[in-house]
Amino acid sequence: MSTAAATYDLGTMHGGLRLPARKSASTAKEIQTVPVPKQLVLPIAQHVGEPAHPIVGIGEYVLKGQLIAESDGSLSAPIHASSSGKVVAIEPWPVSRRLGETAPCIIIECDGEDRAVQTAEVRPPFDTLAPESLVQMILQGGIVGLGGAVFPTGQKLMQAATMPLEFLILNGVECEPCISCDDMLMRAHAAEVLGGAQILMHALGVSTCYIAIESDKSEAIAAIVEAKAQLEDDRIVVKQVPTIYPSGGEDQLVQLVTNREVPSGGLPTDVGCVVQNVGTSAAIYRWICEDEPLISRVTTVTGSGINTPMNVEARIGTTVADIIAFAGGYAEQSDHLVIGGPMCGKSVTTDRVPLVKATNCILVVNETRAPGAEQPCIRCGECATVCPIQLLPQQLFWYTCADDEAKLRSHGLTDCIECGCCDLVCPSQIPLTASFRNAKARFQELADEKARAERARLRYESRNERLETEKHSRESELAQQKKDALNAGPSAIDAILKRQKEKQDHNGGDKQ
Ligand code: SF4
Ligand code: SF4
Repeated sequence: MSTAAATYDLGTMHGGLRLPARKSASTAKEIQTVPVPKQLVLPIAQHVGEPAHPIVGIGEYVLKGQLIAESDGSLSAPIHASSSGKVVAIEPWPVSRRLGETAPCIIIECDGEDRAVQTAEVRPPFDTLAPESLVQMILQGGIVGLGGAVFPTGQKLMQAATMPLEFLILNGVECEPCISCDDMLMRAHAAEVLGGAQILMHALGVSTCYIAIESDKSEAIAAIVEAKAQLEDDRIVVKQVPTIYPSGGEDQLVQLVTNREVPSGGLPTDVGCVVQNVGTSAAIYRWICEDEPLISRVTTVTGSGINTPMNVEARIGTTVADIIAFAGGYAEQSDHLVIGGPMCGKSVTTDRVPLVKATNCILVVNETRAPGAEQPCIRCGECATVCPIQLLPQQLFWYTCADDEAKLRSHGLTDCIECGCCDLVCPSQIPLTASFRNAKARFQELADEKARAERARLRYESRNERLETEKHSRESELAQQKKDALNAGPSAIDAILKRQKEKQDHNGGDKQ
């Protein structure tokens, strides 16, 4: 197969690092399918926004693909059962996330039959649907950004559709070392990736889709080029990008592919682009064309602490312990479990955590940073040189130590993509990225708290308003009755007083 149909015409990117790939072990064999586990653990918050709201009860039997938690609030995504079985609990369970170590999960005891929901409805071809209807359907499939952002895809498309758009960019750039799930997905499921691209183009009303892939992913490029030739869709253009970390960051990719710069605090839609991960695109295809909601994903299981590194397709909710056991178990030396890659991943202390929609890698390593290795900053400026956002990490670190929110905001903390480049080059081994991540999480927590307080205030005010209105209406009703009674004479007054007494007796406890 040839990769000649892939073009190079690229913009530039500031900073970044060329890192060792460490992907050959996990790409040596095809994607393996993890069998249905005994138990599935499905967190109700696997996306940015409000957690989904469970609609199943304990003891209820559910089918594969059945909706078990509805999206709740304007920014949320539904959750579907990833196999058949009985709901045995809805309770906190260990998870991998920034804030807190546990989260409410729906726990399903699988029956091993993997019985799926049967739908009688035959969906019309996607290109006969209005874009708005297509976006609504995507919302219902529980699809979120699988590149790690887990932003509900339907919401992202709805927001994007309000802007003038030119390009859809499919992100097949997997620049973080060790992670190879998108590479393997493109090799094995190129037609689904491109099918999803066609659906997305229709939903967004754009007529050009760039598929960005790193130049060292020759097999993925060949598979995509081949699938494109079979589709005969000239609107799709394959673009090779250099293998520099973090070229797969959304804003960096927009710059590389279109030479347009996303403004600070802005979005790719500000420069006419929408970026979607290739896995998200394949998930959209499966939902719209094959009626399968987002119930599984490809993830990389790798690192020196894993016996047989590989890429697996596993059901969402399968525990990391089950996935590692499938990959031959832990190697003799395996001290450190990370969910995600070595640059952006999060360490976890237990393998009971489940695979969620965001999990692109399960990494087990031996090496960890020696405690106490950190030294004072020597102001070498290396961190600023490699920062792809052109921030000043040493300054930001200073403000995180001082907990100076105003200065952190004015110095662009919220633009930091937590890529970890600054950490890697810092000769003083200062944990810069962790301090930025914690500061951002703290600010987010404060903002959430403020939003919750504001919602409570609005609820309180609207309740008082309602009670006040009811009181006024009761008073005017009473005044009217008195007026009527005066006009009608003493026997009518008695009748009205009797009616009022009966009403009070009936309302009993209502003292509002
Ligand atoms: S972690 Fe943040 S500050 Fe450090 S290099 Fe990456 S974007 Fe810049
Ligand atoms: S790389 Fe480390 S030592 Fe050098 S300026 Fe940045 S924080 Fe300071």
